[in-house]
Amino acid sequence: MRLGDSQDESEFRAELRDWLSGQVPAGVPQAWSSEQLRAWSKSLYQAGYAGLSWPTEHGGRGLPAAYQAIYAEESALAGAPDHVNVIGLNMVGPTIIRYGSQAQQAALLPRILSGETIFCQGFSEPDAGSDLASVRTRARAHPAGYQVDGEKVWSSYAHLADYCLLLVRTDPDAVKHRGLTCLLMDMRTPGVQVRPLRELSGDTDFNQVILTDVLVSSDSVLGPVGEGWRVAMTTLAHERGTFGITLTSRLSAELDRLVQTVLAVGADSDPLVRTEIAELHVHLQGLRFTGYRALAELQRTGEPGAESSILKLGWSMANQRLTALALRVLGADAAFDGPTAFWSGYWQQQHLRSRTNTIEGGTSEILRGIVAERVLGLPRSR
Ligand SMILES: Cc1cc2nc3c(=O)[nH]c(=O)nc-3n(C[C@H](O)[C@H](O)[C@H](O)COP(=O)(O)OP(=O)(O)OC[C@H]3O[C@@H](n4cnc5c(N)ncnc54)[C@H](O)[C@@H]3O)c2cc1C
Repeated sequence: MRLGDSQDESEFRAELRDWLSGQVPAGVPQAWSSEQLRAWSKSLYQAGYAGLSWPTEHGGRGLPAAYQAIYAEESALAGAPDHVNVIGLNMVGPTIIRYGSQAQQAALLPRILSGETIFCQGFSEPDAGSDLASVRTRARAHPAGYQVDGEKVWSSYAHLADYCLLLVRTDPDAVKHRGLTCLLMDMRTPGVQVRPLRELSGDTDFNQVILTDVLVSSDSVLGPVGEGWRVAMTTLAHERGTFGITLTSRLSAELDRLVQTVLAVGADSDPLVRTEIAELHVHLQGLRFTGYRALAELQRTGEPGAESSILKLGWSMANQRLTALALRVLGADAAFDGPTAFWSGYWQQQHLRSRTNTIEGGTSEILRGIVAERVLGLPRSR
């Protein structure tokens, strides 16, 4: 198995590294406002780094998934933020490529790539998170198409989004998984109300979305009516698969920052700190090679394999452990608002955000179930 870059990959990496160094300020990691994120996303598109592995007929560069992995590694090293349309680019776009009509593809894919149309994902509801097939948001047939009523929750970027990939129940009499349909809903349609939710860190990146008598046309249905479960599973597979390699790259960059922090405050002679850092490094190497396996599976089959669940599980636990260690080393200087806030409170921010890592994109309990059943082949528990 070849793990290093090919000649082409190494040239691509060098060009990208050079480009990133001119775009992302070096030094202390910074917070990006939504305006800065939009500008950043536009420059990514203009430089040809958005949609690297999307097919060329849909505006992508048609490159193998390895190039997306190189992008993930280099952007993490440079401390670059996510594309503002991270959900559109990595999850909804690939789903539209697979299930969209020609009209949907032509209208939405170029705008997702350029960042002009930002997507959010409206799957979770107050009583449908891990058990997603329990979705109750109802879409009833209407002369205009569908009339939608219900409530979605934890929708990341809904406050910025132009469109939502919405999972709704079209047939309440069908068995749970069968009565669902996916809609591409314009967030500016009358009856859509977005209420930002404040997180532990003080940020408001996710939202409650209330839908009251929202009229959505029939040509906004993505995939066949009643097949929403299959469409949604494609989106979720891309969520775990695409982010897998990004997560290990980010963890690696974060571990480097932890080492810089430990050295800066002179905690490097503490044997407990040294042991913990060494253990995190060993853990990271295990995840990195699991990432390569998931990538090889993606290149071979076009679908991310169940290995991506190991990555998400291992990364989320390691990231919480890493940020907790940073807080322990810094003590009161880690606080956002302390007079001597280290890196303007970067580690406190990261630690509070890391609490959500074991919930978003599938909780650790759900992922352990997937690893047990689909990777290890153990019998189903239910
Ligand atoms: C930062 C963040 C961003 C998010 N962004 C989005 C988004 O953009 N769009 C979206 O649709 N959703 C989003 N979510 C929602 C996320 O997908 C759900 O929170 C997640 O799937 C868990 O669902 P829940 O919160 O309803 O918890 P529940 O499903 O109610 O789970 C509660 C607890 O029970 C456990 N549990 C549940 N079922 C089982 C089982 N079968 N076996 C063992 N344990 C079980 C869970 O592990 C958990 O500990 C986001 C969440 C977070 C934290």
